[in-house]
Amino acid sequence: MKVYISADIEGVAGVVHAEHTLRDGKEHDNARELMTEEVNACIEGALAAGADEIVVNDSHGTMRNIYPNRLHSKAKLLMGTPKKLAMMEGLTAEYDAVLFVGYHTRAGKNGILNHTFSGKVIKNIRVNAIDMGEFGLNALVAGYLNVPTVFVSGCNLLAEEAHALIPKIETVIVKESISRTAALNVSPSESKRLIEQGTKRALEGVSGKTPFKMEGPYIVEIEFLNTGYADAVEIVPVYERIDPLTVRFTNNNWLHCYRFIRGAIMIANSVQ
Ligand SMILES: [Zn+2]
Repeated sequence: MKVYISADIEGVAGVVHAEHTLRDGKEHDNARELMTEEVNACIEGALAAGADEIVVNDSHGTMRNIYPNRLHSKAKLLMGTPKKLAMMEGLTAEYDAVLFVGYHTRAGKNGILNHTFSGKVIKNIRVNAIDMGEFGLNALVAGYLNVPTVFVSGCNLLAEEAHALIPKIETVIVKESISRTAALNVSPSESKRLIEQGTKRALEGVSGKTPFKMEGPYIVEIEFLNTGYADAVEIVPVYERIDPLTVRFTNNNWLHCYRFIRGAIMIANSVQ
């Protein structure tokens, strides 16, 4: 069994603030340790369920967060950025399952450290009129490749967001969101236990799980936090300006849509 793990940091137990998540944050190194340990717990669960090939994609910010020297020896680590498929780079149709560790709710919804790809520029992303965050957009990449997304860990509200799109997904809740920067966390040792067990359950039932798909063509609308970002993005004629804050494009290939979203965010982030 070939397993793909996409690991973010905002949904890790013990992480609640930008001081944990930003590269120069005073508590970032501790958050990186907690993230590495939760990923290792997911790997342990996958091995117990029979996985014999495991790739971990470091999917947060610099994408250089997980400590390679602390990573479980049975997994390979995809590090660094840019990557064409960002949080889903390296996934192919040959994988049997996708698991998300340390994920968070989408921009505009409650939940610890909620945002969608870039808290600086993105207000909302819609696909065929459905609001989507990183969970949904990334699960669509897996689904487009016919790989089921079977597991996610994070806060209680992320579990709701995930179940709304994939009712049968195995969710592990490692913290209860109180505000955007406050949460009631389980201890790191308990989060590791929950993630290991949840991963094992998710992968033992993998044959009964279907990939998360949406019918194309995909009409994607990206709403920015201010008009200046849309001004910059619409320079590329892929993006049609539909209102002061929003650009739109349509495409039948979800992997191309995902790359257009990533490209728009890179352009917007270049605005001073
Ligand atoms: Zn992140």
